[in-house]
Amino acid sequence: MNWVERDAAVVWHGFTQMACYADNAPIVVERGVGRELIDTEGRRYLDAISSLWVTTLGHCVPELDEALRAQLDRVAHSTLLGNGNRIVIELAEALSRVVPVDRPHFLFASDGASGVEQALKIAFQFWVNRGVAGRNTYLAFGDAYHGDTIGSLSVGGSGFGTAIFDPLRFEVLRAPSFSNPDALKVAAAMVREHRARLAAVVVEPLVQGAAGMLIATSTEFAALQAACRAADVLLICDEVATGFGRTGTLFASEQCGLSPDILCLGKGITGGYLPMSATVASQRVFDAFLGADLSEATLYHGHSYGGNALAAAVALRHLELLHSMNVLANVRARSSQLRALLDTHVRPKVAVKDIRLVGLMGAVELDTRTDARLARRTCIAMVRRGVLCRSMGPVVTVVPPLTTTADEIERIVLTLAAALDEATS
Ligand SMILES: *Cc1c(COP(=O)(O)O)cnc(C)c1O
Repeated sequence: MNWVERDAAVVWHGFTQMACYADNAPIVVERGVGRELIDTEGRRYLDAISSLWVTTLGHCVPELDEALRAQLDRVAHSTLLGNGNRIVIELAEALSRVVPVDRPHFLFASDGASGVEQALKIAFQFWVNRGVAGRNTYLAFGDAYHGDTIGSLSVGGSGFGTAIFDPLRFEVLRAPSFSNPDALKVAAAMVREHRARLAAVVVEPLVQGAAGMLIATSTEFAALQAACRAADVLLICDEVATGFGRTGTLFASEQCGLSPDILCLGKGITGGYLPMSATVASQRVFDAFLGADLSEATLYHGHSYGGNALAAAVALRHLELLHSMNVLANVRARSSQLRALLDTHVRPKVAVKDIRLVGLMGAVELDTRTDARLARRTCIAMVRRGVLCRSMGPVVTVVPPLTTTADEIERIVLTLAAALDEATS
């Protein structure tokens, strides 16, 4: 049996139809170096999806490897339930200096979805603890994606193939998708109208990633925040995808003028090395949970591996490297270059419906009316040419690591153009 056969025999891949897993040109990775992944046959692929948006600086980054090894010599993990861990404190202190949250407190978990789940539960209990009745609904946006647990699915929009779970979703108030230019204005009006039953608004600042990079105008977010403040409704920003430089600033909230009550972080927090997420609460939110020992004011929630020491050590070093390597400047320069090259080489093609890009989160939306698998087949043709991409429905996503070079950006775009020609010929 080859590796793909062995894989298909025992591994169940997420968001993947296993009956045709092997037909869709999967690569079986053995090693990584820089922006490249190397498969079991020794073939190299430029990782143009950053291993689904988590890889920031690249694979096998010497400084991150070193931080991980050093922490291994101390301790791999100790529980944060009722006790502390030195490296986690150091990480939280470093993060507290850069997150757009007022006097932040960090509740760590392992996945983005758990980070969102924690935010939803904190927002709900915040009002209960303060003795305010009826605040048990959330306002979320159409086409939003917040993860795959039942709570995060509930605030997420329909689509993504998850309609089958609709009977399990709890109801939320639904503002329009970012594809509607009035989405944020409508949301602000809904906050004013339904304030008495809203615990919180949940939003992906600037860009709805999984929806195919639907971008809202950054200046529109201030009105939503103002409406939340005026109505005393909590604002939850889900920066699991946008955090840690992806959009050209450390957090997208900065570009949108947002200072949320609760912030969700994940994906790039460890540079793509280890599973870690964090729910960041402002002082005001945190204070509502203070009370007597064993009292009901306590947040009775925590995950076994929340605040894993190995992940924390890597995350801390990663945060330092984002600054010392001047990564944000590279994101902005490569983003302009990517936009210009996509406009020249990809936009003119008949199959291209739209191109959307913010920082290094890009989407090429194809016209799939005559071929539902066009984006899929385009990505397969790219992989054959040594550039790893993944489609989401009609969209080819371009999400390269934040340290990608000018030559690599050019290679991605020219490969995409050639692959699209092949897929449409
Ligand atoms: C990926 C993502 C999540 C879920 O994160 P997981 O680590 O996959 O659970 C949540 N919110 C947003 C905006 C995301 O892009």
